[in-house]
Amino acid sequence: MSIIVQKFGGTSVGTIEKIQHVAQKVKKEVDQGNQLVVVVSAMGKSTDQLVDMANQLTPNPAAREMDMLLTTGEQVTISLLAMALHQLGLDATSMTGWQAGIQTESVHGSARVQDIEIGKVQNKLSKGSVVVVAGFQGVSQDGQITTLGRGGSDTTAVALAAALKAERCDIFTDVTGVYTADPRVVPKASKLEQISYDEMLELANLGAGVLHPRAVECAKNNDVYLTVRSTFSEEEGTLVKEEVTVEDGIIVHGVAHDEEMTKVTVRGMKKEIGALSRVFKTLASKQINVDIIINQSMYDTDITNIAFSIDSEDLEATLHVLEDNKESLGYEDIIYEENLAKVSIVGAGMISNPGVAADMFDSLSREEIEIKMVSTSEIKVSCVVPAANMVKAVQVLHNTFNLDKVEETEKVNA
Ligand code: ADP
Ligand code: ASP
Ligand code: MG
Repeated sequence: MSIIVQKFGGTSVGTIEKIQHVAQKVKKEVDQGNQLVVVVSAMGKSTDQLVDMANQLTPNPAAREMDMLLTTGEQVTISLLAMALHQLGLDATSMTGWQAGIQTESVHGSARVQDIEIGKVQNKLSKGSVVVVAGFQGVSQDGQITTLGRGGSDTTAVALAAALKAERCDIFTDVTGVYTADPRVVPKASKLEQISYDEMLELANLGAGVLHPRAVECAKNNDVYLTVRSTFSEEEGTLVKEEVTVEDGIIVHGVAHDEEMTKVTVRGMKKEIGALSRVFKTLASKQINVDIIINQSMYDTDITNIAFSIDSEDLEATLHVLEDNKESLGYEDIIYEENLAKVSIVGAGMISNPGVAADMFDSLSREEIEIKMVSTSEIKVSCVVPAANMVKAVQVLHNTFNLDKVEETEKVNA
């Protein structure tokens, strides 16, 4: 008997009819003799609606209460899905994160899963029950309800699959797999049959919302057989695995984008060892995530400017903490530029093919798209550009790196 973990995202469980459809899919696997763990998200856009309600009350809701609020969304879905499964004659038990033994660090809003007391789920499975687990939530050692970050139900599913040594973990969503770019932005994007854990991790970290980055990290660390596929069709999905066969001439496998970035520059700091660490320790003390960093030292002065990019939603907190520590940091002033976005190309083939970054800069500049910041790793290049140019930039890069889908007629004529 094999254990299979299935995860259904918000759109897949957005209505009662869709929950009934999901129940049918679960039944199909059970009828084939498998043991099923089903992880679900909150229905439709209900997490966003909960966030909105909190924001109507206060611009700074307490993080503990926010987690308490947001975890209710998934709790609605698990109970309804368990009922739908009962209606099909199946034994099913719903479990919240803490009931399923999902232990996290003591952080609200974006906690990491530390351990799973998997006996609780195993016990129910062994009694013949389908176990329906609330995604995106856990419990900290001090008994607080925590959440895993937006999109974190994927991580719940993969972490459970790893702990159960499941045969596979299927992420069911509203697209048929992982595409060469977000199909909503690039209509010519095509589905990848396979993608490596490393490339998927880069894409997810760079904004490809189809999988939560920590889910990919967990799959890689535990060698989980992970697929992404559609809830609404039987089409084969994308397999995320260790190594993939690289097709000739394809250096870039995907283009990702991330909206709402802001560039902050701390100007006029004294050039001395420790300046960088002081700035970033100050930001870290407020859990502010910094992305690209540029240290602009001038040769002939003892002054340095430190520029970095952050999520726009962290701007207020960033300015506050820097202002509060102005004296100890010893800078002159701070400037910032909002309404930026990051576009990135990802591909393992870059390691052995020089000139990829140059091609990227060239194609963006031919479209007169200004590049504000750049960062690279072995398998990716990212450029920060004006948000107004983001869609254009993604489409241009998709074309530049030969990812545009060949039209049916061209295929026939070839
Ligand atoms: P779910 O609610 O099922 O978790 P998400 O909205 O989190 O679904 O993720 C699916 C969405 O991810 C798709 O609708 C698509 O717009 C977006 N997406 C972004 N990048 C990609 C990509 N490279 N391939 C496929 N989908 C992508
Ligand atoms: N419901 C949560 C969110 O909207 C978690 C998830 O869907 O994965 O972010
Ligand atoms: Mg998601």
